[in-house]
Amino acid sequence: MNAIETRGLTKYYGNSRGVIGLDLAVQEGEFFGFIGPNGAGKSTSIRCLLGLIRPTSGEAQVLGNACTGDRRRLLREVGYLPSEAMFYPGMRVREVIRYSADLRGQDCADEAAALCERLQVQTDKRVEELSLGNRKKVAIVCAMQHRPRLYVLDEPTSGLDPLMQREFFALLDERHAQGATVFLSSHVLSEIQRHCTRAAIIREGRLIACDRVEALAQAGARRVTLHGVADVPELSGIRDVQRSPEGVSFLYGGEMNVLIRALARLDVRDMTVAEPDLEEVFMHYYEEGGDRA
Ligand code: ADP
Repeated sequence: MNAIETRGLTKYYGNSRGVIGLDLAVQEGEFFGFIGPNGAGKSTSIRCLLGLIRPTSGEAQVLGNACTGDRRRLLREVGYLPSEAMFYPGMRVREVIRYSADLRGQDCADEAAALCERLQVQTDKRVEELSLGNRKKVAIVCAMQHRPRLYVLDEPTSGLDPLMQREFFALLDERHAQGATVFLSSHVLSEIQRHCTRAAIIREGRLIACDRVEALAQAGARRVTLHGVADVPELSGIRDVQRSPEGVSFLYGGEMNVLIRALARLDVRDMTVAEPDLEEVFMHYYEEGGDRA
């Protein structure tokens, strides 16, 4: 079964574009990345999925339920981490966490205590005394304490220090290994590359690519580095040329044989051909508006 499925999901805020014609299918048990820069439409898509806003057109289903359907059930089965954690002022952390469990009609006290210990959450503080990172940790406990089948995480690591990020991903990996589905929205490519098996790239409200993370990384080109050479061979398919005292480096998207024949005429001291990292691929999709979706 698909944990998340959208068909032609479109949301306009008045005349301004949120997301356009999004077709997405995330299978149950996947660790799925949703990549895009600020303003691409990630939060809009997620809010539509969870029934928090109504799409202008198109459909979305979460765990087999239409996003406009039974929101109580959705709340029980989904752990949602919004990009900005907001709480009612005046409440203490432990009250916020209990309130969130009560909303789902569940007693999550043991799980909440374990999560608070791992994430070093101070439960006696008032929410308005918390820093951004500490607010985020409380939101993580609220999203995970009821052990949902599906985690929908909108930019979860912003504000978390590196140690907490590591602990958070360790928790997610454990839940994923136990069968949960994770939908991770992020503009931090390294975390998508490290944890997700598949990912979708969204740009200006539209899906521009959706594939296995390795396939996305290979789709663009190879990073070729030549030592002892000052100039780049004149070939099509070469871009992002970087020069250094040792030589040159560039992305090459053409036939490898063509490159090798061209290099044979040069005095190359050493060379490496490597897969580009996701960052380079990402820039490729963004600058050229890939059409691989
Ligand atoms: P992302 O999560 O990828 O940063 P968003 O979904 O927040 O992107 O935003 C997508 C687009 O929709 C942006 O151009 C943003 O300005 C616009 N937008 C988002 N929320 C609203 C809103 N409540 N009213 C009007 N425009 C909005």
